[in-house]
Amino acid sequence: MKNTGRLLSMLFVACLGVPSLAGATVKVVTTLTDYAAIARDVGGDRVEVQAIVAGNADAHFIKPKPSYALMLRDADLFVSTGLDLELWAPVVVNKAGNRNIVDGAPGYVTAFQGIELMQKPISLDRSGGGVHVYGNPHIQTSPLNAAIIARNIATGLCKVDPEGCESYKLNLAVFTDEIARRLYGERLVEVLGVEALDPLARTGRLVPFLEEHALVGELGGWLGEGLPLRNRKIICYHKNWIYFTTLFGLSVVDYVEPKPGIPPTARHVAELIDLIKAEHIEVLLAANYFERRKPELIADRTGIVPVVVPTSVGGEPGVVTYFDLVDTWLIRLLDAFALADETSGGQGHHGQGGHHDSHHDGHHDRHQSSGDR
Ligand SMILES: [Zn+2]
Repeated sequence: MKNTGRLLSMLFVACLGVPSLAGATVKVVTTLTDYAAIARDVGGDRVEVQAIVAGNADAHFIKPKPSYALMLRDADLFVSTGLDLELWAPVVVNKAGNRNIVDGAPGYVTAFQGIELMQKPISLDRSGGGVHVYGNPHIQTSPLNAAIIARNIATGLCKVDPEGCESYKLNLAVFTDEIARRLYGERLVEVLGVEALDPLARTGRLVPFLEEHALVGELGGWLGEGLPLRNRKIICYHKNWIYFTTLFGLSVVDYVEPKPGIPPTARHVAELIDLIKAEHIEVLLAANYFERRKPELIADRTGIVPVVVPTSVGGEPGVVTYFDLVDTWLIRLLDAFALADETSGGQGHHGQGGHHDSHHDGHHDRHQSSGDR
């Protein structure tokens, strides 16, 4: 009888969700749905995950709501980018009054840790209203970064739930392995290994390297499918995609926003229209939370093909995992360039196949930064 009573009281405590108890569910709250999807993969059945920002919302401009603080009140782990993508997050964390997840606490994970930021400005200056003062915070657009984000989340989970650490490490290995196989294809991972492939891919040098060694035919996965995107020019609405475009060798010529977070003036739109015509730019890539009027106007005047996609998991029906998200970006862009080529009679074929081009990613990144001030 005594034992039954103790067992019952233990069960009662377990139901209250005391985090140190074995088998208790770890409550994870993330800013982005992408971090939530990755946390579900890494956490498995030990975690319960919620995201604050909807998949079709602009994470830069979220109005803190009391319900967000409520979500964080009893969270064990909070995952945010850690840069200025979610400028509203510290306010929400403050309101939640949960010391386990404040900056510096074991339950606070900064997703960007260990990721080399691109488009770093020379000085921290928000005077013009820019929202990327530490460098580009849209880190999740590269699958290589997704693997680092998964590692950061696993490290955080191990801190708040040491008993689950072995299982988190195992899930992390599965996730990282799937990223590699989906990115390069089974065969290339076997032949060269991720230790050789990742640093080359990260800096946009993988395809030139494979071409040099007559190995480009072995490239499969997303990068293999994405070969027709190499050296093609695009316009982006916002600086959402630099990690993705660098990885796939796309060249971003300009942006609809004159500065991240600043809506375009009529004059900037007119200049863009001239630029698109002069440089025969065929595709305009925009996140689905931006207004459609200006991209439509630009498309009407120039014939550029607009590609409107979610930036995050859940931003569109059917985009459930991080892998679905990358599939969506890739398929839409490939379709858009195929359509552009059809309408222009194939004139736009600059970057197909074994075309060597010294205009690799370091160059257009610098070009963009000059307009960023
Ligand atoms: Zn941004």
